[in-house]
Amino acid sequence: MNQLWHLTLCEAAKGLAEGRFGALDLVLACLERLKQTEPSIKACLTVLEEESLAYARSLDEKGRDPQKPLWGLPVTVKDVFCLLGAPTTAGSKILENYRPAFEATVVERLKAAGAVIIAKTNLDEFAMGSSTEFSAYGPTCNPWNLERVPGGSSGGAAASIAAGQSLAAMGTDTGGSIRQPAALCGCVGLKPTYGRVSRYGVVAYGSSLDQAGPLARSAADCALMLSAVAGPDGRDSTCSMRKIDDYLNLCPLKASDLVLGLPEELWSADFAPQVANVLEQAKKILTSAGVTLKSVKMPNLRFSVAAYYILAAAEASTNLARYDGVRYGYREAGKEDLNDLYFSSRTKALGPEVRRRILLGTFVLSSGYYDAYYRKAAQVRRLIANDYYKALKDCNFLLAPVSSIPPWPFGAFTADPLTLYQLDMMTLPLNLAGGPGLSLPAGLGADGLPVGLQLMGRAFEEAELLNAGMFFERLLPPIGWPPLN
Ligand code: GLN
Repeated sequence: MNQLWHLTLCEAAKGLAEGRFGALDLVLACLERLKQTEPSIKACLTVLEEESLAYARSLDEKGRDPQKPLWGLPVTVKDVFCLLGAPTTAGSKILENYRPAFEATVVERLKAAGAVIIAKTNLDEFAMGSSTEFSAYGPTCNPWNLERVPGGSSGGAAASIAAGQSLAAMGTDTGGSIRQPAALCGCVGLKPTYGRVSRYGVVAYGSSLDQAGPLARSAADCALMLSAVAGPDGRDSTCSMRKIDDYLNLCPLKASDLVLGLPEELWSADFAPQVANVLEQAKKILTSAGVTLKSVKMPNLRFSVAAYYILAAAEASTNLARYDGVRYGYREAGKEDLNDLYFSSRTKALGPEVRRRILLGTFVLSSGYYDAYYRKAAQVRRLIANDYYKALKDCNFLLAPVSSIPPWPFGAFTADPLTLYQLDMMTLPLNLAGGPGLSLPAGLGADGLPVGLQLMGRAFEEAELLNAGMFFERLLPPIGWPPLN
């Protein structure tokens, strides 16, 4: 088996440009690695084997196109991106047989850039969850320890990169679903600013929070992916009209230029000792390199879990009303009464976590409770956004942990949804505020499991954020590959 699956996206792009190997060699390497690892990882819901081999062959025949930055590079997309000719399930039984009649802008742009989409990856049903255990198609395993969760909801994407199945992936982040699985699987994950990447053709969860972004093996790989997919889109009115920056040609940074704010409200959490040790070590490495770390106060962050779970559930309850057993998706047979049809189709084909959120969302939007919950949460959201704005006035970036605990054993929190929600504390405030965040591997804990760190920046300053990410990557210890055959 050829070992090209070891390469980063940028290394592979360089190898293709220099003619050291072709698109087919690279795609074959990833597909073989996928076949070898998939029985134990279960990261993919659909593998586009024939299509990607045929496409890679046709690319090689036509010859490399230097205008296409992702030419010949094998990537995956989370199964919320509509892609013609394949199912889009969003990890739900209700969309089991759904084949979209249109394609997501992200998918179109990946293809236009010459990428080869080899698979669609697993996720928590409708991206609701933090462990990929809520997928209707079964969980994905963490390549670093097969008995542990890969994080979520983009757990399939992160696990697939960590296992060497693909070089990069597109995921979505509503409250941490790119950054947290990236951290738990030892990858790099970027949540761009809300509106930087089009949501057209992406199955909606919380529309004011959802943002698509890349997961990969380095910050430079994320930059390469972002430059291919970001930018204005006439088909998504919430997508920003701002032109994208150059994410690829960045000026080198000096440690003395960097002042990082450490939000007290996040660093004072209860950390598992193996996570705390890696985080302390990482802070020491940064300070001894000459980076300034200073504590900042963001008092409203303590309300973010409550505000997020009200707003995200409210938006989910509205977005998921379209799965009614009538228009598309699963329909319960033999029902004559319309209400009965709605009720039984939705009960049967939506999982318990999704139903819990629909109920919660419907409740907080109902007359009499709207003011007490939804409106209040929307006001708190503004206060949280102001905290970010103020904190980022006196420092270049904010530095925070991604998860207070290492990847946990399957089933550890399934009976305890509130604890699972609390675990999102480090990631979801940023979605409420809207800015960009980059999660990087900080090292391995004493248990041999990866620990992540996240950098957060000002809105639309992805170039600066990625540049800082590349700088920190050189300082932090490399974590290597998971012990997987
Ligand atoms: N864990 C969070 C939730 O369940 C975030 C999920 C996400 O970002 N899609 O809502």
